[in-house]
Amino acid sequence: MRTVALYRYAIPVETGVVLRHRRLKQREGLIIRLGENGREGWGEIAPLPEFSQESLAEAESQAKACLKAWRAGDPCQFDTLFPSVAFGLSFAFAELQGELGEEGNYRVAPLCYGDPDALYHKLNQIEGEKVAKMKVGLYEANRDGLLADMFLSALPDLMLRLDANRAWSLEKASQFARQISPENRHRIQFIEEPCHTPALSRQFAQTHQLAIAWDESTREPDFCLQPEPNLRGIVIKPTLVGDFAKCVALIQQAHQFGLTVVISSSIESSLGLTQLARFAKQYTPHSTPGLDTLGLMTAQLLRSWQGSSLPLIGLDSDALQAVEID
Ligand SMILES: [Mg+2]
Repeated sequence: MRTVALYRYAIPVETGVVLRHRRLKQREGLIIRLGENGREGWGEIAPLPEFSQESLAEAESQAKACLKAWRAGDPCQFDTLFPSVAFGLSFAFAELQGELGEEGNYRVAPLCYGDPDALYHKLNQIEGEKVAKMKVGLYEANRDGLLADMFLSALPDLMLRLDANRAWSLEKASQFARQISPENRHRIQFIEEPCHTPALSRQFAQTHQLAIAWDESTREPDFCLQPEPNLRGIVIKPTLVGDFAKCVALIQQAHQFGLTVVISSSIESSLGLTQLARFAKQYTPHSTPGLDTLGLMTAQLLRSWQGSSLPLIGLDSDALQAVEID
């Protein structure tokens, strides 16, 4: 017999979390539970405001229809679903069928800011690649460049991932690049989406011989992954991309091209984040994932992130409400 359950959650976030143009007060989403033959599978459906095309209400009505159909014995067609719904349902199926590994990759890339000594200590505690990250494009491009170069010069085994979120014009990006000493360039693992468009980012990478990675581009309707001279990686955010098999296919294609793949968060609760950590361990074991967003929340949901001391919301909490499916 098949059983299904659906819950709605709302978790307060830390003050000051801004998504593009909107200040986020709480993170809202859905939790689903599938049961069959004594096994369970859980999943999270949480469209990210300002990033997902679908609203939570739209995702909820689609999820309800899928859950009802599955309970009645019908299969699920993920390619017709919103990405967030496809993600949540397919990961619940993966758990149910034992296809999602148990062990997680909980490594995080520390953020570069302030004092290189503090970063040095954090990096020394990391096993595996000594990679840190830095958001760029929010302030002066020259300043971003000086700071990145300072960290690279101070820490000789540091690899740096930069994320510009398409903030720079070609001129601004060049101002940044001119501050990076030639001997430090190869330790910029990549810059995610440096310029306003992929074409400008390519031109920038070519001119300055800096590595780039696609993030926003991977979600564009006509996106087709291809090897390119300065392309070193892609960032995959499953809530925005879609189902388990689709993400695996994208990872495998990227690996064929020799690209680094970073499994990344869309600010899911600890339930979704721990599943992403397990997915990352399974399919991108050598790459540090981008999942350190739990710190934006004031609580964890149902499952605990390794090492986190945030309180855990259980099924009996008011923050989680059962939703009628029929
Ligand atoms: Mg990015």
